[in-house]
Amino acid sequence: MVSLGCPKNLVDAEVMLEVLSKQEYEITTDEKVADVIIVNTCSFIKEAKQESIDAILDLAERKHDGRCHTLIVSGCLPQRYQEELARELPEVDIFIGTGDYPRIAEILAEKTGTEDQLRYIGDPDYIYDESLPRLNSSPAWYSYLKIGEGCSNCCSYCIIPQLRGPYRSRPLEALVAEAERLVARGVKEINVISQDITRYGSDMDDDTTLETLIRRLAAIDGLRWIRLLYAYPDGISDGLIALIRDEPKVCKYLDIPIQHISDPVLKAMKRRSNGQQIRDLIAKLRNEIPDIALRTSLIVGFPGETVDDFAGLMQFVEQSQFDRLGVFCYSREEGTPAAAMPEQVSERIKRERYRKLMRAQARLSFRRNRTLIGKTEQVIVEGYSEETELLLKGRSSRQAPDIDGQVYITAGTADVGDIVQLRITDSSDYDLIGEIVD
Ligand code: SF4
Repeated sequence: MVSLGCPKNLVDAEVMLEVLSKQEYEITTDEKVADVIIVNTCSFIKEAKQESIDAILDLAERKHDGRCHTLIVSGCLPQRYQEELARELPEVDIFIGTGDYPRIAEILAEKTGTEDQLRYIGDPDYIYDESLPRLNSSPAWYSYLKIGEGCSNCCSYCIIPQLRGPYRSRPLEALVAEAERLVARGVKEINVISQDITRYGSDMDDDTTLETLIRRLAAIDGLRWIRLLYAYPDGISDGLIALIRDEPKVCKYLDIPIQHISDPVLKAMKRRSNGQQIRDLIAKLRNEIPDIALRTSLIVGFPGETVDDFAGLMQFVEQSQFDRLGVFCYSREEGTPAAAMPEQVSERIKRERYRKLMRAQARLSFRRNRTLIGKTEQVIVEGYSEETELLLKGRSSRQAPDIDGQVYITAGTADVGDIVQLRITDSSDYDLIGEIVD
């Protein structure tokens, strides 16, 4: 299995892996010995589509120089381009959409009888439940909990609602049961994800909210860290802010994709918050939880983005001092309203604005990390540094897996998976260095 794109897609891959391992399949990480290869794809933006196509073409070679007899392409790419893919990629045996992946075992069983290329791409209306097994493909001490599927926010540049359907929450008891199962398997950190976690419960006919879920997760013995990712700005209530502040198990960390700060651009993106509301939210979070680590993602080069809009964005980033920042060049996605908008920005200008923003962020992140020297942080030990076995490495509670920096441990011993107190002794743009204090 090669799973591309976001952690939400990874959870689908983990379900497929466990469903197959419960049949007669053995999971391997060696593509050369694999009889079946699955590429779980992403098609959110141009770069992601290219990465998916490259992976498919590369792994299709294993049908010639490996043992592979069945190549499966699942996820968002076939959900979006099934006709084109079927035409362009005859080497693929099966295409599976974003709603059909749980049937992977029966689909493979159906394949054995025919040489035809098969497609299982229905409406993206499925939401998996805890009755389905799921393998944790992340390191044993952390995992992702997908609390909902789809999105109804319909930002004008985004194709996801068409690929994953309207937003729908998973049942509260199902999520608590899954979290308990993960913790029983050794997970200490749960990363709460969906397209917009603040929507949790909005489609239920009782007063269940994201806070309800977090309180239930916090009551699970053995669970140490609860991290909140993909929170839509206007869905962050005072109650949620207080819970992040007061619940020790909730990491003082919040990922709030805001995409831009200029009102005309936010309006054209069909985002619900305006610039002042976003500024007020950041100020409130910093005021209520002074040591919170804030992550956001921004889009540069959206149609109609003027030099002044971008200057305003640079100034906003300078003032807001995000701890973590992801920047994307606007990707013109056919089928989205923004793709038809006038005043499309050139690729050269997009890249220029991207580089400017990332350079500024590296400088800001370096400065922010310097302010942590002498302070202590909770750190989860994740193994040995790439450079030398003499150096342990880990992540602080203010660093998310896979997307944020790391911590290098220069003194003290601990086992992998342990959560320790660490004093920060030095830092770089994105990483921290320190010593275990207990
Ligand atoms: S919130 Fe907007 S950008 Fe995010 S998945 Fe939903 S529609 Fe797409």
